[in-house]
Amino acid sequence: METRILIIEDNPANLDLMVYLLNHFGYLTITAMDGKEGLALATKEIPDLIICDIQLPTLNGYEIAQKLNQDPKLSHIPLIAVTAFSMVGDRDKILSSGFDDYIAKPIDPENFVKRIESFLKTHQKSNKTKKKE
Ligand code: MN
Repeated sequence: METRILIIEDNPANLDLMVYLLNHFGYLTITAMDGKEGLALATKEIPDLIICDIQLPTLNGYEIAQKLNQDPKLSHIPLIAVTAFSMVGDRDKILSSGFDDYIAKPIDPENFVKRIESFLKTHQKSNKTKKKE
């Protein structure tokens, strides 16, 4: 079964690049450009992985991570932050805020999908709460 990845990103160029790269390597993508839409799609689609920007309209990445981790139907879904870092400490803040990993912007087309693949191999969360749609 194909791996379905939800991408929540409000920058169209970054979103298009991630969709292009993931589709090229056979992943199915679902996209949202603001936080509330992303959370609604996560609830509706139960994707295999969520890639999430931090600075987003309506709900930011930290708020999305908190809501995902508080929902028993969604807390098993692995969550990767994709964000630019301007301050020391962001990495620790991200990893202590419910994200399982992060990828720094700008997106590196050579390595992005490799990072996603190795993440999926090593960071599978428990699926015990996973439900049929
Ligand atoms: Mn953004």
